[in-house]
Amino acid sequence: MEYISTRDKNNSVSSTKAVIEGIAEDGGLFVPKEVKPIEDLNSLVGYSYNKLCKYVLSYFFDDIDDGLDEAVDKAYDEKFKNGVLKIRDLGDIAFLELYHGVSLSFKDIALSILPQLMRLSMEKEKIQEDMLILTATSGDTGKAALEGFKNLERFKVAVFFPNDGVSFIQERQMITQEGDNTYVFRLMGNFDDAQREVKDLFSDAEFLEELKKMNLRLTSANSINIARLIPQVVYYIYTYLEILNSGKLSKGEKINFCVPTGNFGNVLAAYYAHKLGVPINKLIVASNENNVLSDFFKTKKYNSNRKLIKTISPSMDILVSSNLERLLFDLTNDDELIKMKMKSLKESGYYSIDVDTDLFYADFMKQDEVERHIKTVFDKYNYIIDPHTAVAFGVYNKYLAETRDLTYTVIVSTASPYKFPKEILKAFNISAKDELDSINKLAILSGTEIPPQILDLFNKGQTREIVVDKGKMKEKLLNTIK
Ligand SMILES: *Cc1c(COP(=O)(O)O)cnc(C)c1O
Repeated sequence: MEYISTRDKNNSVSSTKAVIEGIAEDGGLFVPKEVKPIEDLNSLVGYSYNKLCKYVLSYFFDDIDDGLDEAVDKAYDEKFKNGVLKIRDLGDIAFLELYHGVSLSFKDIALSILPQLMRLSMEKEKIQEDMLILTATSGDTGKAALEGFKNLERFKVAVFFPNDGVSFIQERQMITQEGDNTYVFRLMGNFDDAQREVKDLFSDAEFLEELKKMNLRLTSANSINIARLIPQVVYYIYTYLEILNSGKLSKGEKINFCVPTGNFGNVLAAYYAHKLGVPINKLIVASNENNVLSDFFKTKKYNSNRKLIKTISPSMDILVSSNLERLLFDLTNDDELIKMKMKSLKESGYYSIDVDTDLFYADFMKQDEVERHIKTVFDKYNYIIDPHTAVAFGVYNKYLAETRDLTYTVIVSTASPYKFPKEILKAFNISAKDELDSINKLAILSGTEIPPQILDLFNKGQTREIVVDKGKMKEKLLNTIK
């Protein structure tokens, strides 16, 4: 499979090269040159997750000759004690729980295999240097990346989290991180500050030169990398096939997925699954109050000129949604146009584009509505969802009220409720004296077991973090990894 840049179709590279480079030289994102439907998708019914994953990855990474199967088995092993995912069919609605990995968010699924795909790509491309993975996190990517790359030879991983913006558990997960090659930084600012500084480092010649002296190459673990995106396509196909297998869908019958979104990575993966042949009726795109995306789908105008709002679904507090560029390229197949629009976004924070997005429905949820939906779901189904998932559930309800569409719908559940105990208890007006108390109360309320990863956080006394002021990232990072 060849990959081309969204801003220059003639810039074409192998998959291994796309993984190593992360982002195209022209500033564009790599996309698969052509995604064709799998000929007999239904014949894959009954495949185990790993088997299907091997099948899908070998389609997208066909220039990796050897090692893919082993990589998949390494990524999805006993780390996922209860399986990679769980489909919860509650009668008139189904939730797809993607949060059973080490860090308890869906990001574990892609970030468990990303290091393997990078390693294989480094071998294929004969990369001599080691890799520095540098990532700004709005909460969940950080921990999942730290865990994914922990103690792996030839990798160092540095994560910057905003002092202002992540939940207590998310923060605790990062500052108690173990591993000889992991570095955790607390940036005194918000996520946009962290993201901006990290982005600047990627084009900072002096910084890159310093890394070179240390035999390091810079790369990112966020969803601009195709090795982060493609593994997510697998769970949509798997889920569809499982539901088909269960008899709840008949052959050819369509399905809806409703996805809580920030950077548009997870929705885009569903879109690729659609291109591969999963019969999708609607992709329901759910935003929180940072509703740039839902505004875009309604008006075809993207406007990031607004203030970032801090919400109880912090992993979706994003104003520049990188992966939308990939969708727009796919819909238009016009690299010149995309280049122009992205230039406009960079210069003025705005663009408008004329595209047909009929496959998508989009809307957003306000904070108080999110809390209300957490409670509604519990009252109706005796089932607790996290605030990100509640955003999706709420938007699905709006969709249902507007369309009365009875297509079988799967709500993508992106984080464990145990990552947001306080926020959830608030929806029930239950008070707690501290975080641990809130976790215990959540366990009682939900009748579920506290994940051991959560309890561990409170047993680890030692914390490691490096505090950094705004504008000082480069200096601190270089001094630390030396
Ligand atoms: C990252 C994240 C999202 C948003 O996913 P995107 O791929 O960026 O759209 C939603 N929910 C949770 C819990 C997340 O961690």
